[in-house]
Amino acid sequence: MTLIDTHAHLYWDSFKEDFDEMIQRAADAGISTIINVGVDIEKSQVALDQTKNTKWPKGLSVYSTIGIHPHEAIKYGQTIHDRSKFVQEDIIKLEEIYRNNPDRVVAVGECGLDFFQNNNDNDHNSYKSHNFYNLQIKLFEAQINLARKLRLPLIVHCREAWDETLEMLGDQPAILHCYSGFPHTTQYIIHNTNFYVSFAANITYPKNEYLREAAKILPLDRILLETDSPFLAPQSKRGQRNEPSAVAEIAQLIADLKGISLEEVAEQTTNNAKKIFNI
Ligand SMILES: [Zn+2]
Repeated sequence: MTLIDTHAHLYWDSFKEDFDEMIQRAADAGISTIINVGVDIEKSQVALDQTKNTKWPKGLSVYSTIGIHPHEAIKYGQTIHDRSKFVQEDIIKLEEIYRNNPDRVVAVGECGLDFFQNNNDNDHNSYKSHNFYNLQIKLFEAQINLARKLRLPLIVHCREAWDETLEMLGDQPAILHCYSGFPHTTQYIIHNTNFYVSFAANITYPKNEYLREAAKILPLDRILLETDSPFLAPQSKRGQRNEPSAVAEIAQLIADLKGISLEEVAEQTTNNAKKIFNI
């Protein structure tokens, strides 16, 4: 039995101390592939370099992605230059990373829209401003276009912006990472076969019954598994650092919810990931 963690950030500082042990635990848990996801230009390059320069255990393949996270949109508001031009310059840098290593880079992302508002934010916090929303939309649009141009799937981060996100995506093949959609969004997604839904450990949290419902009704051939390591530890390890081996726990939960075997979940989600990432 093999599993694929379709979303991890292996270059994060919190992995430095015990990196080899952490990777070995992933291999021991049956992880065959990890997608090492970039969140800005520098980290997209770092993710790729790590993918190329690390000696991975036998049987484990690691690929990377190129993307700019919606939280990064804020920096495009701090320039007096033409913002579209500034975004476009960075998109060209992402494209260069891909062009130099087309065999290793398998997706554009993570990118998307994050309209979540923290109640602790004060009024001056720019995350709340329409300007910031507009910058996010510009940045996301540019990455959708890049994915189309390079014929790569998109890894989408979406928080409290489902209507806008799904409208912008159109028929672009996309992975809805760390899925958090409510039932009406899930219904829409079921009918749009270009979308894969990637479940992370937030599906194990007690309050998220609606996500367990989504896993029950979504066809298995549209589901992917991920950890978003080092973030988002499962309920059993909440508050701790997360790591790719925990993807097995999510696979088991989906098997239980659907009343099918762990092996079936592993086999189908592995096939799904290979298909969408073309690996
Ligand atoms: Zn992530």
